[in-house]
Amino acid sequence: MDCLFCKIIKGEIPSVKVYEDEKILCFRDIAPQAPVHLLVVPKAHVPSVDAISKENAGTVAHIFECIPKIAKQQGLSKGYRVISNVGPDACQSVPHLHFHILGGGQLSEKMA
Ligand code: AMP
Repeated sequence: MDCLFCKIIKGEIPSVKVYEDEKILCFRDIAPQAPVHLLVVPKAHVPSVDAISKENAGTVAHIFECIPKIAKQQGLSKGYRVISNVGPDACQSVPHLHFHILGGGQLSEKMA
């Protein structure tokens, strides 16, 4: 499958890894929009939040168990934002489920 994040997961495209286990990978966004900008992805291909189902919900829950640990490890003690863009209206540019973690400084009050 010609999926950018699947290629990153397989190591075919380089990334700066921050956390990895058997189910998920967290790496630095190549075009950071905050002092700390990470992406957390399931290793199994899921197109977006729209495709979360009983079958993959366990991995999504695992992502959300790991996010606070990753945030702590990255020093985001004053807070952070978790975002997932879904589809063209939200400007999703990579069709592999991912959660942005943004932090490391004061973020905008606006989300859209
Ligand atoms: P989205 O627009 O919500 O689909 O987010 C996709 C994110 O992937 C964007 O923030 C991009 O900067 C990021 N991105 C694209 N290519 C790479 C790459 N090779 N390594 C790390 N992040 C990437």
